[in-house]
Amino acid sequence: GKVLVSGANGYIAAWLVRTLLQQGYIVRGTVRSEEKAGFLRNLFKDYGEKFEVFIVSDITADGAFDEAVKGMDAIEHTASPFHFNVDDPQELIQPAVKGTTGILGSVLKHGQSVKRVVITSSSAAILRVEPKPTVFSEENWNEQSPRDIEEQGRSAPAITKYRASKALAERAAWDLYHKHKSQISWDLVVINPPFVFGPSIQDVPNPFALGTSASHWYEIVVAGSMGPDSGAGANKVGSSWADVRDIAEAHVRALQREEAANQRIIASAGTFKWQEWMDVANSLSLSPIPSHPNLPKGNPGSTDKIYMVSYDASKSGRVLGMVSGAEGAHLGLTGEKIRYRTMEECTRDTLADVEARGW
Ligand code: NDP
Repeated sequence: GKVLVSGANGYIAAWLVRTLLQQGYIVRGTVRSEEKAGFLRNLFKDYGEKFEVFIVSDITADGAFDEAVKGMDAIEHTASPFHFNVDDPQELIQPAVKGTTGILGSVLKHGQSVKRVVITSSSAAILRVEPKPTVFSEENWNEQSPRDIEEQGRSAPAITKYRASKALAERAAWDLYHKHKSQISWDLVVINPPFVFGPSIQDVPNPFALGTSASHWYEIVVAGSMGPDSGAGANKVGSSWADVRDIAEAHVRALQREEAANQRIIASAGTFKWQEWMDVANSLSLSPIPSHPNLPKGNPGSTDKIYMVSYDASKSGRVLGMVSGAEGAHLGLTGEKIRYRTMEECTRDTLADVEARGW
């Protein structure tokens, strides 16, 4: 099959392209500039003509993806701004929403061969801020962040602007899908990952440019930006996470599994506190890594074990065959049913990447 991946140079998307190519798909990636195209052509040169790049310089322009979708069997839409460096919330919301409705619009017009569209949404489209530990599922919709943006506009916290962009983009995708359901021959799958961590293969000059989630991990677990006395409390702050390679695999399985049709699917390995990542990094046999002999220790073992945000990821197990937590412990990383990578696996490979890149 032929798969279009938007934002192919991104942290998650680069792994997704690699995973698709490894599994025999023909991949067309879109990026914003020729420079980014060149990097990817080189990264995937072993796959020859099975990989090509289209430049889509502005995903919000009318018909931006009209050419790119032609001849494709499936679409994986990952491109969306993920940074907190904004004043006007529309700087995130516009590309998130218009990028999504735009690519679906191009599929409606020019995607006659498309059978499935997978969209990378986020746990940000699911969760809401609660004063007590809460388990969220695909039944939950983040209505709070869009409302906060309506009320607070520019003065809303940056994280709220990002969450609103993801919630509104996913909502727009389902609305458009339902509106056209009777005339189309494709179905929609949405993947909702929490924090994504793990090694990187995209073009990145330094660890602070890794992308919001992976650079955050580097800053805390390698560079030690969150000491035990920082006030932010590495033993208190955390969320849920999954390894980037598993998120890529989830996107591939989302194409392959019939029963994924018209589902939103949380892809989560489990919960974390930042202190736990530090504890894991310091417990690995490869630690200390030569380039960072003194990984930050924080306050070892002090985690309060109260997880404010966790997810019921059972649908991922049922539909994608990707099982998290104790239930997946006996499963391997390949096969019909697999388990999500552990914090140890993710940490080991991320530190090896840090070492290999000379950071
Ligand atoms: P990256 O920042 O590495 O990748 C984002 C991709 O989207 C890049 O290709 C980027 O292109 C493109 N993009 C961003 N803004 C625009 C824009 N205005 N117009 C066109 N393209 C744009 O982030 P991730 O790989 O982490 O994110 C990929 C997807 O996964 C996003 O949809 C994100 O919301 C979602 N996600 C990420 C999570 C995480 O923890 N990493 C968790 C949950 C969801 P360019 O390089 O040119 O800027």
